[in-house]
Amino acid sequence: MGKAVTILRCKIRTCLHFQSGNRRFCYECEDYPCKPLKHLDKRYRTKYHMSMLENLKKIEKLGVELFLKDERAKWTCPECGGTICVHKGYCFACKKMILIG
Ligand SMILES: [Zn+2]
Repeated sequence: MGKAVTILRCKIRTCLHFQSGNRRFCYECEDYPCKPLKHLDKRYRTKYHMSMLENLKKIEKLGVELFLKDERAKWTCPECGGTICVHKGYCFACKKMILIG
């Protein structure tokens, strides 16, 4: 499945609260954390070893710049410096399996 398809299908991305107003992050919303977000977070925690809610907390605490710096390090392949796919768990560049789960 391509990236564009994933984004189109994502309910969070098309969240009405997100589109109206000038919100950049879910935690800026009065409904935060809303049901769809909690649902998605649970799915990602069990399937992909990441948590959107944790990430949002981190962004709120550290600011987005520091958060991205951390994330960049986390998702960089230790073998070749390529990018690790959160869904498949392997490096896009060298195909080495990084996340075991
Ligand atoms: Zn690699």
